[in-house]
Amino acid sequence: MKSKVYIETFGCQMNVADSERAATGLRKAGYELTQSAESADVVLLNTCSVRERAERKVFTRIADLQGASGKKLIGVMGCVAQLEGEAIFDHSSAVQMVIGTRATDRIPLLIERIQNGEERALDLGERGDGESWEISPVERHSPHVAFVPIIEGCNKFCSFCIVPYSRGREKSRSAREIVTEVRRLRELGYREIHLIGQNVNSYRPRTQDGQEHVFGATAFSRLLRAVAETGMERIKFTTSFPRDFHPDIVLAIEEYPNLCDWIHLPVQSGSDRILKAMRRGHNSEDYRRRVETIKKSKRRLSLTSDIIVGFPGETEEDFEQTMKQVEQCEYDGLYIFKYSKRAGTPAANFNDDVSPAEKTARFLALESLQREIQKGIYRSYLGRLVSVLVEGQSARSMADMTGHSTCHKVVNFRGAATLEGQIVDVLINEVKSNSLYGERMS
Ligand code: SAM
Repeated sequence: MKSKVYIETFGCQMNVADSERAATGLRKAGYELTQSAESADVVLLNTCSVRERAERKVFTRIADLQGASGKKLIGVMGCVAQLEGEAIFDHSSAVQMVIGTRATDRIPLLIERIQNGEERALDLGERGDGESWEISPVERHSPHVAFVPIIEGCNKFCSFCIVPYSRGREKSRSAREIVTEVRRLRELGYREIHLIGQNVNSYRPRTQDGQEHVFGATAFSRLLRAVAETGMERIKFTTSFPRDFHPDIVLAIEEYPNLCDWIHLPVQSGSDRILKAMRRGHNSEDYRRRVETIKKSKRRLSLTSDIIVGFPGETEEDFEQTMKQVEQCEYDGLYIFKYSKRAGTPAANFNDDVSPAEKTARFLALESLQREIQKGIYRSYLGRLVSVLVEGQSARSMADMTGHSTCHKVVNFRGAATLEGQIVDVLINEVKSNSLYGERMS
């Protein structure tokens, strides 16, 4: 009998999608997937390396598993695996498999190697030609929302970011494959898909195959239209890279109501000096122009962003410019990160000269500004009807259901568990700091 495998996922949506893909391959090879580490013979940790803290968390988890495990086979997959390679074996004697970001489809072979007596197995190779992106519905993280990777890797080489090293160069799937997958998801009853990738709008397939029938100024805006034509009810996409953000994306959203009204566009800083040191390839004016296009859209589009505070060399004045940028952009949501040095990135050689206390102070100041802005934006939803995909019961109250609006806000409302999976209209009558509350309208 084949072993039972448990996969634990850390980090971004790409990792969630990779775990789903790995699980699909493992089940096809005859393994049973289980929901707990305790009941598993094989434990795979799908790791994130974007910040050092995330990386440390994995080694703490391995130590826990080692303590509790007895005779489990432990494998590390994902970004930490790709970056650290062999060194993981030295770091922890409990780990027997190291599986790089493009080796997800070969995990059954690696397990077999260990079961046939090899002490350790390592695969940091590229994806094989013709490897399938297929994900079985049973492995998906939700029966209602599906992640569809459209591009892997990153060519941007921002000076702070480890992703180009952990995930390799950008590689786009063909539009035909993507559209076929979305059609299938629709037939299976999924109500919402997220087109995902480190930089979705840098999408550049080798051919136009599958999007000949739609027009668009860029390959990505064509893909959006081709995917919208499938009739999938709600289509979201993340993350967009500012330099590649073409106004045609906004036009496509205006043309197709099923392209959702939410754009995530990480700015990282409001200071041109810092943006240059970050090697972002855009300055604050370029970014503002793109935001203007988004704000002027005929549809009200929700805008969210990422910002790093305390990047090497960031002065009080640079930070003030970031605060100003945030005031002007009026984001619906903001992810704020304190700069953390990542070995292997160009910025690791810069002088990390903003003290931890100063990073915290800037983080808190920005957070407080965003809270005020967000309060205003969220209040503007009072009395409005929003369409919500009901994803499950609220963690706070058994009597409430929770889901996301098309503009990707968390919405809670009084309702029965039987509503899960349905799209309902909710009249907003209460505003919390990071969610909306309302009453379901029949
Ligand atoms: N592709 C996205 C972009 O446009 O840059 C980035 C994806 S990254 C996984 C998510 C966020 O983590 C980044 O947008 C950035 O704000 C943050 N981040 C990345 N590297 C970081 C570092 N060294 N220190 C702090 N935050 C970091």
